[in-house]
Amino acid sequence: MRFDVITLFPELVESVTRVGITGRAAKRGLIELCCWNPRDYTEDVHRTVDDRPYGGGPGMVMKADSLLKTIRDIKSNKKVGKQAKVVYLSPQGKPLTQKVLSQMASEQEGSLILLCGRYEGIDERIIELEVDEQWSLGDYVLSGGELGAMVMIDAIARLLPGALGHDASADEDSFSEANDGLLDCPHYTRPEVVEGLQIPAVLKSGDHKAIADWRRKQSLERTEKYRPDLFKTFLKD
Ligand code: SAM
Repeated sequence: MRFDVITLFPELVESVTRVGITGRAAKRGLIELCCWNPRDYTEDVHRTVDDRPYGGGPGMVMKADSLLKTIRDIKSNKKVGKQAKVVYLSPQGKPLTQKVLSQMASEQEGSLILLCGRYEGIDERIIELEVDEQWSLGDYVLSGGELGAMVMIDAIARLLPGALGHDASADEDSFSEANDGLLDCPHYTRPEVVEGLQIPAVLKSGDHKAIADWRRKQSLERTEKYRPDLFKTFLKD
């Protein structure tokens, strides 16, 4: 899966290819990341990518011309193509979910262009002309879309076959379809006692059915307790 990220801060986004699971996925060629800086598509000496908003008001807006040139240059690349989906990370987008990300991961041969805004955001006409989807990290405002792009790359990469030590691990994670959208069960590792707290005895029983039943019960209970909204959906489905 290829990610083309449009950002004024490529060094920030590129760090995902250096560490952890995303780093390993990049080394194994499961993901490919290319960052594109709109500053490289400016023609003035100051390499200006922003300007004051029409109508006045505080802050600056990312200019359309350098963004359009960047997007079109990416799409002219044979490995990407005109059909590549352009995603704008925006607080005004729909909230990202595991379901959406897992759908994107299943389009493995695909390529995503992730557009990171800065300042007050991007010139609205870019959204009209080039953006296919807008996704948000949640109902709060960040100073840039880079963290959103990194979140998408991370969450998608770990779903690609071969990215995790065990491919089935992702199936047991919170929100996964295989786990009926429930929260994951609690996990324990050695030692058996931490400051007087024991591990649940069933986990040492060697009884696989009893362990699976206990984990399922835990998932149900904690989903009902911590995320009643998810629990309601689970009951409905
Ligand atoms: N004026 C914009 C608004 O209120 O909708 C916010 C602009 S924000 C300071 C700058 C950039 O950060 C946005 O263009 C977007 O790319 C990114 N951003 C901010 N919050 C985000 C969120 N919750 N999810 C995804 N991207 C976000």
